[in-house]
Amino acid sequence: MRADAVVVGAGVVGAAVAEALSREGRRVHVVEQGVPGGAVSGASLACIGTHMMDEDELPLLVWSCAAWRALAEHSPVFEYERCGQIRFLDHEHELASARHWIAMETGVGLGSRLIEPDEVRRIEPILKGPILAATWSPDDAVVNPFLAVRTLVAQARSRGATVQSGTAVSGLALEGGRVRGVETAAGRIEAGIVVLAGGPWTGRLAATAGIDLALVPRKAQCLATVARPPSIRRVVGACKAEGGVDAGYTQIQQARSGQILFNTVLAGGITADGGPDDIREADRLFMRDSIATLLRLFPDLADVDLLRSWVRYEAVTPDDRFLVGPAGPEGLYIAAGDGGTGFIRAPAVGRLIADHVAGREPSFRSDIYAPLRFAGAGRA
Ligand SMILES: Cc1cc2nc3c(=O)[nH]c(=O)nc-3n(C[C@H](O)[C@H](O)[C@H](O)COP(=O)(O)OP(=O)(O)OC[C@H]3O[C@@H](n4cnc5c(N)ncnc54)[C@H](O)[C@@H]3O)c2cc1C
Repeated sequence: MRADAVVVGAGVVGAAVAEALSREGRRVHVVEQGVPGGAVSGASLACIGTHMMDEDELPLLVWSCAAWRALAEHSPVFEYERCGQIRFLDHEHELASARHWIAMETGVGLGSRLIEPDEVRRIEPILKGPILAATWSPDDAVVNPFLAVRTLVAQARSRGATVQSGTAVSGLALEGGRVRGVETAAGRIEAGIVVLAGGPWTGRLAATAGIDLALVPRKAQCLATVARPPSIRRVVGACKAEGGVDAGYTQIQQARSGQILFNTVLAGGITADGGPDDIREADRLFMRDSIATLLRLFPDLADVDLLRSWVRYEAVTPDDRFLVGPAGPEGLYIAAGDGGTGFIRAPAVGRLIADHVAGREPSFRSDIYAPLRFAGAGRA
């Protein structure tokens, strides 16, 4: 089997990379050990927005959010919904941080603002818990994660890409200092370009070419209630002053199915007690604390019934930014290190990989994503 480019992994990142490369006329072959979207991406809450993100990344984030919007206009099948996001503030000291984010975002024309509890109740009537204030970012959206991955894959396929599910890549085929393809149990797939988009498994794959990527797994947990009539209309999250994802972060939303989903990334950041293959139920302590937060914010949901929980490991870098670009042998590219916000960034990551592969000026500042910027500090 031969292609111009092999993309390893069909999560949202690999799917976006395949879409971007096939858009430029390359013959793309995607190899996925499971099913497209079946790993971290399918377990995601898939909120897309620019609020309280990284200042240096704002141009890329704005572009990426616009790309999702454009895709939704063109293929309205993945339940893209511009519902807006409320970030609640519980303490005075969070106000300064919220004002900082808002000043920075309004400076580049984004629409976030600080709102008083009265306005919070107008925007999200069921949010009756005792909060001090909130930020409101009306342009934030959510998508159905499986359908979004499927849509990107379908776009790539419509331009000639092929997808091989249920096949694990065991290593890279290298020759004379450059990539010649990938090895699988079903044989070698030859390609002069290989993009590793294996999410939290990417470090293992890169290690087969002797590359040490600074990627570590971070635990994300999620609970889902049984379906309820529509009640929570917005994404409701904690203010970043109380910690970004590294210090314990809460996000609550209601899916179109009616299930209420709540996600928390535990305090302490990097998790030592698990890895990407460790797929299980959420911890009891997490469940107790999450339910307490849900009921504090939404007291009307006191009769809520839990349906299920899940744990996944996101791929995290020391600075919470992606690794995107060439690394190691010629022809090898990395697209991983989502830091828990891979849905937001995926279209732009695809775009950057396409820029690198074409050898043209990157569409966004790319040095901050150089895959080997932590060389020596990584853990495969
Ligand atoms: C509970 C939760 C909530 C989240 N909420 C948000 C959110 O609101 N907004 C947001 O932007 N992000 C969110 N995220 C993060 C987001 O889901 C991830 O950043 C994103 O899904 C990562 O995509 P990926 O393609 O890099 O990884 P994955 O989806 O894991 O894809 C990698 C793929 O590579 C495949 N693979 C790995 N190794 C091999 C191999 N050797 N051979 C073949 N295939 C291989 C895997 O099977 C997998 O399908 C959340 C995550 C979780 C868990």
